[in-house]
Amino acid sequence: MIYFDNAATTAPSSEVCRAVAKGLKCFGNPSSLHRLGLDAEKLLNSARENIAAALGANPQEIYFTSGATESNNTAIIGAAKKFGKRKKKIVTTSVEHPSVAEVCTHLENEGFKIVRVSPNAEGKFNASDIINAVDDNTFLVTCMYVNNENGFILPVEKVFSAIKKRYPHVLTHCDCVQAFMKIPFKAKKLNADLISLSAHKIHGPKGIGALYVKKGVNIPAFIVGGGQEKAFRSGTESIPLICGFSAAVEELCGNIDQRFEYVKSLQSYLFEKCGKYENIHVNSDADCSPYVNSIAVNGLKSEVLLHFLEEREIFVSSGSACSKGKKSSVLQEFKVSEKYLDSTIRISFSKDNTKNEIDILIKALDEADKKLCKIR
Ligand code: PLP
Repeated sequence: MIYFDNAATTAPSSEVCRAVAKGLKCFGNPSSLHRLGLDAEKLLNSARENIAAALGANPQEIYFTSGATESNNTAIIGAAKKFGKRKKKIVTTSVEHPSVAEVCTHLENEGFKIVRVSPNAEGKFNASDIINAVDDNTFLVTCMYVNNENGFILPVEKVFSAIKKRYPHVLTHCDCVQAFMKIPFKAKKLNADLISLSAHKIHGPKGIGALYVKKGVNIPAFIVGGGQEKAFRSGTESIPLICGFSAAVEELCGNIDQRFEYVKSLQSYLFEKCGKYENIHVNSDADCSPYVNSIAVNGLKSEVLLHFLEEREIFVSSGSACSKGKKSSVLQEFKVSEKYLDSTIRISFSKDNTKNEIDILIKALDEADKKLCKIR
């Protein structure tokens, strides 16, 4: 099997599976005052320390959630609840993941003003376009780090630092799901008040993520109840999933740069190979995250190609896992030509992929191009 759908989710490592099992066995409720509770609390604290260290944050700034969708909802709706009576404007981009984009649309329907900044005519973002969209009525800027459909890296650090200089009270939120543990960055340098993370994109378990909330930033809770996570996110903490998340981070945090270089060499190899075929078009470019690559085989429908590859045990995604075969509005925003929109597939790498696997993919794409060309 060749798995090239790592932007959708990743395979948990053996270490992660062991850590989840350990967390399951340590079954006490971390809120219980007896020894079993304290044992669970120790695991919780140690996981929080690990994840905070990877982000260059303090453990008190990390809140566990059910995943990045919840983190994004908590950050944006929390900011709107806090500032909504005085200010009405959120600045975001037109290429965000639905867990940000749909929340913004929901708030728009409630009377908020949402400004969605688009890439320029070349399909790139000008930092100044985002910065200049902010004004005195703005309370939040939410901008993703790495786009999940084509790997485009947004100029978040530049945008946030300019905004913090001009409008220190505007909150900055970054969906870092496709960047965490892949692109080296630290919370403070990013100038983000709020950062969303997800475990299952980094070989951790599904259903667990985190929201970084910078010290001194106060937004109301999204889920209320028993007062866990300092009353910011109620619900008994899932120690098994949290242990798995922590193990995934621990496994990856020592060599982000080397892994980046390795995956970059895979990306260059993929682009070089694609360049040899007239009918294969690369939507991403060498400035994009090497982990997420968007390509198209001219005239072949993405879904047809996806299943052709699946029959050969090669797993890719059509555009993004969330688009479910619909023409991607995000790729349209990135100015991908109309003729490639229907034919786009996403090849998303992990550290476990190899050049040999890329050779097999390219051979299969060539075969698809020749065999299926009749039905173009
Ligand atoms: N943000 C981005 C950029 C993503 O790629 C994803 C998952 O596809 C999410 C948020 C949602 O993450 P989760 O599955 O943890 O809710």
